[in-house]
Amino acid sequence: MNAALPKQAGLYSSVPRNDLAARLQREVEGEVLFDQGSRGRYATDASIYQIDPVGVLIPKSMTDVRTALSICRELEVPLLARGGGTSQCGQTVGAALVIDNSKYLNRIVELDIGAMTVTVEPGIVLDHLNAHLKPHGVWFPVDVSTAAQCTLGGMAGNNSCGSRSIAYGNMVHNVHSIDALLSNGTEGLFGDENTMRHAAPRVADIVFRVQAIALREREQIESRVPAVLRRVGGYNLDIFYPQNPRPYTDNGSVNLAHLLVGSEGTLAYTKQITLKLAPLPTSKTLGVVNFPTFYQAMALTQHIVKLGPCAVELVDRTMIDLARSNPAFKPVIEQALRGTPEAILLVEFAGDSSEEQFRKLHQLVELMGDLGLPGSVVEMEGAPEQKALWEVRKAGLNIMMSMRGDGKPVSFIEDCAVPLEHLAEYTSRLTEVFRKHGTRGTWYAHASVGTLHVRPILDMQAGGAKKMRAIAEEAAAMVREYKGAFSGEHGDGLVRSEWVSWQFGSRLTRAFEEIKDLFDPDGLMNPGKIVRCSKMDDTSLFRFKPGYQPVAFTPALDWSAWNVSSDPDTDTITAPGTGGDPAGGFAKAIEMCNNNGHCRKFDAGTMCPSYRITRDEQHLTRGRANTLRLALSGQLGPDAFTSDEMRATLDLCVSCKGCKRDCPTGVDMAKMKIEFLHQWQHKHGLTLKEKLIATLPRWAPWAARFPFLFNLRDTLPGAAALTERYLGLSAKRTLPRWRRDTFLRHAPTTEADVADVVLFADTFNNYFESENARAAHKVLLAAGYRVHVARPVPGDKSESKPLCCGRTYLAAGMVDQAKAEARRVMEALQPFVSRGIPIVGLEPSCLLTLRDEFLVMGLGDDAQLLAKNAFLFEEFLAQEHKAGRLKLRLLPLPEKRALLHGHCHQKAFDAVKPIQQVLALIPELHVELIESSCCGMAGSFGYEATHYEASMQMAELSLLPAVRKAGQDTLVIADGTSCRHQIADGVRTQGPRRAEHVALVLARSLGEPRQ
Ligand SMILES: Cc1cc2nc3c(=O)[nH]c(=O)nc-3n(C[C@H](O)[C@H](O)[C@H](O)COP(=O)(O)OP(=O)(O)OC[C@H]3O[C@@H](n4cnc5c(N)ncnc54)[C@H](O)[C@@H]3O)c2cc1C
Ligand code: SF4
Ligand code: SF4
Repeated sequence: MNAALPKQAGLYSSVPRNDLAARLQREVEGEVLFDQGSRGRYATDASIYQIDPVGVLIPKSMTDVRTALSICRELEVPLLARGGGTSQCGQTVGAALVIDNSKYLNRIVELDIGAMTVTVEPGIVLDHLNAHLKPHGVWFPVDVSTAAQCTLGGMAGNNSCGSRSIAYGNMVHNVHSIDALLSNGTEGLFGDENTMRHAAPRVADIVFRVQAIALREREQIESRVPAVLRRVGGYNLDIFYPQNPRPYTDNGSVNLAHLLVGSEGTLAYTKQITLKLAPLPTSKTLGVVNFPTFYQAMALTQHIVKLGPCAVELVDRTMIDLARSNPAFKPVIEQALRGTPEAILLVEFAGDSSEEQFRKLHQLVELMGDLGLPGSVVEMEGAPEQKALWEVRKAGLNIMMSMRGDGKPVSFIEDCAVPLEHLAEYTSRLTEVFRKHGTRGTWYAHASVGTLHVRPILDMQAGGAKKMRAIAEEAAAMVREYKGAFSGEHGDGLVRSEWVSWQFGSRLTRAFEEIKDLFDPDGLMNPGKIVRCSKMDDTSLFRFKPGYQPVAFTPALDWSAWNVSSDPDTDTITAPGTGGDPAGGFAKAIEMCNNNGHCRKFDAGTMCPSYRITRDEQHLTRGRANTLRLALSGQLGPDAFTSDEMRATLDLCVSCKGCKRDCPTGVDMAKMKIEFLHQWQHKHGLTLKEKLIATLPRWAPWAARFPFLFNLRDTLPGAAALTERYLGLSAKRTLPRWRRDTFLRHAPTTEADVADVVLFADTFNNYFESENARAAHKVLLAAGYRVHVARPVPGDKSESKPLCCGRTYLAAGMVDQAKAEARRVMEALQPFVSRGIPIVGLEPSCLLTLRDEFLVMGLGDDAQLLAKNAFLFEEFLAQEHKAGRLKLRLLPLPEKRALLHGHCHQKAFDAVKPIQQVLALIPELHVELIESSCCGMAGSFGYEATHYEASMQMAELSLLPAVRKAGQDTLVIADGTSCRHQIADGVRTQGPRRAEHVALVLARSLGEPRQ
């Protein structure tokens, strides 16, 4: 072993990085990432830690992993396997070669429905596996909250546990066998006794010795391993003398794979895992028990679990209130409440017989009556209402995590497990401990198994480490008193390995070290975790180490809302701009990313299209936020913030604002990209293409005067190729067509002082698709509104130039020019908004700029007023309809079916539903929403030659296949100009296909106004 590599700490001051990189480049097929930025992106997980890895390998095959292991062994460099990197305890952080399995090693190897098993590679995501299993009526039931991003390799590594663990157990109860690779190159299948009979001599020898250790330590195992279901700390030495109330195997035999489960990659690398499957329950009921006190909820859980539910999940008062303050969740949570409870328990029963589930639900009602709480149960039998309530439970946590300021909810005692009879006392006492240390925590989650999540709010940049230790020590004392487990769900990693000896005692800890040395004598596998670890409060391992300081700069946008301090005790935050961020709040906005990995998702929602097509950490919201944070705090070298590397990291961000909505902590990368581009263009300038696109609203009047000339690019042979060569616009694209009959040229308008509504015609619907603006105008008139068409105020220096929201300037980082445009808009619209007259627009990305970026341009209070009065055309109509004021008579269209694609910004502002609501006014029209992420065109992004392929890949994820499947008699509706262009381009080879703005569709179905 290299003397420079201390075995225990996981910290390596000198490693042969260059040699390793060179060897890997030569010998493996996968991606070898050793640059500072890539390493930085793999230096963190969802914990508070950060350690620079030696390098990163994204293996394409198991051969790559074997080769890497052999090179690492030779060069004495440690290895760290990684899945989604969603560990909360620092398991995937270390000075090692990180092997990311999630991109390529994610296949299902064999499904055996007869045996109810499936064999998978380690990088497969749980949700992807379960989607594959669903048609077979089976599932893998360890339903962790991160199901959309966590991998089976990571789940096995952490011995993960789901909400329904009371019914199905933890990972350890559901793994059948593990095909493993040991650090000396030995490969072997670890499983039941039958499997082990055929083990290779080296594996058999290890097993023999492990058995001997267990036999020797039997008394220690029986006295020190907590007898609770949720115990995931240390190694599972109790598989030989089980302490877990749920048997590890059906027949009580020993399964050696279970020793690897929960070993956090410290014993072996998992090549394949065979998992036990469960039948998918066909019937579910949900009872929501309302408690007048939190204490009662905790005290009575033990009685509820005796009814045999498959989940009992807690939502406390704080979360109820948070849900109530959210317009989307308010009606859902209120359906579940009786009065004003201090806590609710979601009690789920599931199985094959609906009668049986109803019977259990009624038993719950009776039980609560017997326990002195008659009428406290809200019975939910319908699947949609149950699902909606589960969503609220998850969202409550998200809102809690979105707290601004340096104080953040920190995970370190988040999953202590105590026997149910002590739950009430434990939670009360711990709440007192928090109070004593000037903080608080919100309680939620798995009441059924005594594992309640709670994160005290701590400022890890100022004094948090000290408080963390003090609170951990007091919590640990209680856990011991109640004979519980300190680590009941999230594992040991860097934050809790130190507590292994506290939990299991010095003899068992020594036994764990022996086991580690048997499997991994050179200490190469994820060192410093579980055994021979560092201290939890070693601040040199923190993400925010002492001395962490963002560079000072004056941002172009107003980030002061993030620049605040919070007081967890009083639950208050200071005024915007007072948080002491030298980057004016921009750094604090970036630091909102806590690395939970939620952006690594592929389900409904938008976030994050560039990750969906590349599966690269660099092209992920988390990767971008990490790179920005590292660059801004000088950890990527001088001037890293405006470096080519930074630009490359943001290059595929299509500014869809998916993260603004979907990220639990509200990381708004689209806005951050504007800030970055502003700083970039100040240093590097803009290319001709960028200038042309950004200033389009400025030269558009000229193009509209000579459309034939400007349209030559798509008609003159060779012109498209020239624009690709000299401007970087893809020759594979047609460009929007200029025309003389722009909307604003002849738009009739009502006098300003008698107008009911103002129509804001954006650059695109004015110059390129003026029929949309005309259609919107017609519909509004038909509905009886007096429509004023917005124009610059008289005396405006650029009066001949239409109003513009500044979007094209923002997309290039030209914030000053965008602000100038915004001021023109404000000036023109202010007289209307001050009278409460709605401003209505058509292009989502333009109109919503008035509600979003205008608020961070330093435009004052008037911008707030404008934002409140600015609506998309369909939002306005839907509101008017709801208020009973809409007098529109619409007739059936020849088409009876429509496919709807929502623009990303509509999704980000929850503005897709209004389109559905107004389309529902058209008789006989059946509308289906395409579950799509970004269309991939994203303003000018898809027109650029360098982005053409990525753009098409994004479109092909779901949008274009859905459009292709639809017959010609189906309408395709998309409000975004670039979305419509992408659809037309993407299906062109199958024949012309035109997507329409909703205004056009409504105009076609117009009847006479109702009297
Ligand atoms: C918001 C949030 C909610 C969470 N909810 C839950 C929950 O409900 N239940 C729960 O149990 N956990 C939960 N977690 C923790 C975490 O998501 C789970 O532990 C998850 O299973 C980890 O999966 P991953 O793919 O991200 O693994 P990673 O974090 O990448 O890795 C986990 C461990 O497995 C090891 N590993 C990965 N692949 C291999 C391999 N091929 N061979 C050997 N070792 C390997 C790693 O070295 C590491 O030690 C939550 C985390 C967050 C951020
Ligand atoms: S960007 Fe948001 S979703 Fe992604 S890891 Fe960071 S906090 Fe989580
Ligand atoms: S704006 Fe869109 S593309 Fe950019 S990081 Fe957010 S989700 Fe990803």
